[in-house]
Order: sequence, then structure tokens, then C-alpha cells
Amino acid sequence: MPLLVMKFGGTSVATLDRIRRAAKRVGREVANGYDVIVIVSAMAGKTNELVGWVEETSPLFDAREYDAVVSSGENVTAGLMALTLQEMDVPARSWQGWQVPLKTTSAHASARIEEIPTDNLNAKFAEGMKVAVVAGFQGISPEGRITTLGRGGSDTTAVAFAAAFGAERCDIYTDVDGVYTTDPRITSKARKLDKIAFEEMLELASLGAKVLQTRSVELAMRYRVPLRVVSSFEEYDPNAGTIVCDEEEIMESNVVSGVAHSRDEAKVTLLSVADRPGVAAAIFGALSEAGVNVDMIIQNISEEGRTDMTFSCPTNQVARADRCVQEAREKKLINFHGLEVDSDVCKVSVVGIGMRSHTGVAAQMFEALSAEGINIKVITTSEIKISVLIDRKYLELAVQALHDAFGLEKSG
Ligand code: ADP
Ligand code: ASP
Ligand code: MG
Repeated sequence: MPLLVMKFGGTSVATLDRIRRAAKRVGREVANGYDVIVIVSAMAGKTNELVGWVEETSPLFDAREYDAVVSSGENVTAGLMALTLQEMDVPARSWQGWQVPLKTTSAHASARIEEIPTDNLNAKFAEGMKVAVVAGFQGISPEGRITTLGRGGSDTTAVAFAAAFGAERCDIYTDVDGVYTTDPRITSKARKLDKIAFEEMLELASLGAKVLQTRSVELAMRYRVPLRVVSSFEEYDPNAGTIVCDEEEIMESNVVSGVAHSRDEAKVTLLSVADRPGVAAAIFGALSEAGVNVDMIIQNISEEGRTDMTFSCPTNQVARADRCVQEAREKKLINFHGLEVDSDVCKVSVVGIGMRSHTGVAAQMFEALSAEGINIKVITTSEIKISVLIDRKYLELAVQALHDAFGLEKSG
């Protein structure tokens, strides 16, 4: 029997009515002759509420208990989706991550999937079950504790199941009708892409385009999973949405194909650290051990053997970073004269595989930002992206200016 994976995000299962709508789509694929694995997120807003409860209870929480709490939202929707399907006479049952079992590493709150044995679900499909509804985002560690895969992790659950079960396709049903040149909530000029290359999608996702979790794109690329992003609110159309595929399958190409943003960034500067071998290793080693996701790094010009070291990280990790470097200073592992935090910054990036063969993209980007009077605080580049850190109040303006400057409204 051919098999499909269908993943419904939080807004697509936000109410009982929407769960019914989603279940009808599943029912249609069953009628088309498919066995279906449905991956569900928690109802919209639920995970944020659970995270809030954890942070209020324990600001520097034990990540194992964080996972025990925040994974629970998906349990509710998995059961409700299975019940809804049963009411429609579709043979369905729900599975929590540990029941499958979806085995992960023990990196709580950002665990990676290690293995998905197929025997349990396949035995049920063989007995006549048509739909396995699996709670997204969660798994089980080698120690037998519940883990979660990082925010947006249900996308990764979906792609991993599609790879493990050899699904014909993995459809990600969400609240937009595909992947756009930029977040359509920021500019109405954003254009939907019919196709996007894995590598570009990977960069866009890792730079903040939350329509797909980064790890889900990595897995789809590695295991050649046909991946499609579609709207769960529009009428069914087999050609709708965006296909994420190999570069070679894409005819049109702009040099820059998308603009991504990440709103909640902070810029942290350690003032006057010693400029000698081993210092950067000590600082960033300690931050990494404390679970701080450092992104951009700059070391300023050295004066008299001392220098300022600046890095960026998510705003909600500043307290953790602060505590970590203060502790390292107390233990005399590092030394600095002060700490400056700018929590009002954001990151805006342009992405495109065309950048490999075109020069001048950085200059064009900086000119477009300067024409709007936007000051750039930090810059990083890779082969197919350029990112800048700027004041958060300019986020929308910067995204719109770059979308215009690179002509993204029209296809190339
Ligand atoms: P779900 O709850 O279905 O997983 P998410 O909120 O995680 O949905 O992701 C969908 C959202 O991603 C959209 O509502 C949109 O605002 C945002 N988004 C950011 N960048 C893009 C982009 N380039 N294309 C489409 N959507 C984007
Ligand atoms: N519910 C989780 C989150 O909000 C996982 C997901 O929706 O993908 O991050
Ligand atoms: Mg999501």
C-alpha cells in the first residue's frame, strides 16, 4: 500500500473544527488508496503557554522536566485527531513518541532523532489500521526520558517518518500556502515559490524562516524525501504549495531567492579580554557547555594585548550567557573588564544559490540598507547567504527594502 505523511501545524489543529477539517483531508487520501501517517503539533499557542509555565516555575530549568511539560501539547491533539478520524469511520489510533518508539539523543529540548523502528506501526497497518496519528516534536532518550526536538520540531518528526517508512511524499500543512520569497506577514509583495532548492530552504530556515524547521530540511535533503508545503485552509489542489527539491529541478533563478529574519537576537560584548591563544576557546567552550547558541562572533582590533569580543545569541539566552561568563571569570578560566548587552537587535539575511557565481550582492545589500538609514552592527557571510545584525525597530523596513532591491517580487 502506498504511504503518505501529512503533518498539521498548530494553527491547523487550533480548534476542534480545524481538527475536523484536517481529518477530512486525511480521509480523502485514505479514499485515494493511501495508508497515512499523520503528525500533529500542539494546538496553536499551547507550546508557548507550556514554555511560559516552565520558565515561571524555574528560570534556569532542568531540561528533562521542561521536555516532560512541553511535549504534552502534542499528546492532546494526537488523541483528538484519532478520535475525529474514528468518528468518520476511518480506522485510526494515536501514538506518542515513546510508543513508536521514536528514539533520540539525550540532548533535552533539542534532541536529534536516532532511529524510528517501523515494526509497531507496520503491524497495525497490516491489521487494517489506515491512519497512525503520531504526536510530533517528541521522542524518548536512551535513558528512557521524554525528549523534544526543539521548537518547530514536528516538521522534523514528519520528515523522519517519511524517510523511515519510504513515504511517497511528506506534506506539511500550515497556515500559509507555501514557501515565499520572504515572510508574507512582513510584506504583501512576498511571492510564493513553486519550487525551492533544498540548500536555499536550509539557509532560509536556519536564518529564521520558521515555515520549516532547519533539521527537517536537512533530513529531507539527506534521505531524498519529496517534501511539499501546503495550506490547510485552502481548497484541495494537487498542484498547490511549494515543492522543496534538488537545485537541478529548478528552472527560474534569481541571484537572491529569499530574505529571512530572526527577531529575537541579542548582541553581547565582553570588554577587554586578553588577546592570546586559548581565550576564545575558553569563552565559547564555556558558553557551549552552558547550552548557549552562539551565532555571529567578532573580535575587535587588539590594543595593548587586550580586545573586545562580541557575539550574538537568542535574547532568551542572555541571562544564561551572563551567568556562564561570570562563573568562568570567578573560576579564573577567563578574564574581562565588563559586559555589554544590546537586546534590541535582529538579524536580516539574504539567501540565494546564485550568489556562488555572482559578485556584488553584499555591496547591493549594504547600499539598500544605507539608503534607508539603517546602521549595520555585525555582518557574516557564507557561500549562499549574507546576514546583518541591525536595530530591531528597522526589521520590517530592512526586509522590505531588500525584497525590493533584489527584485524578488518578480521571478528571474
Ligand atoms: P505551523 O504551526 O504550521 O508549523 P509555523 O508558524 O511554524 O506554522 O510556520 C508558518 C509561518 O512561517 C507562516 O505563518 C509565516 O509567517 C512564517 N514564515 C516565515 N518565513 C516564511 C517564508 N519565507 N515563507 C512562508 N512562511 C514564512
Ligand atoms: N508544538 C511545538 C512548537 O510549537 C512543535 C511544532 O509545532 O512543530 O514548537
Ligand atoms: Mg512550525
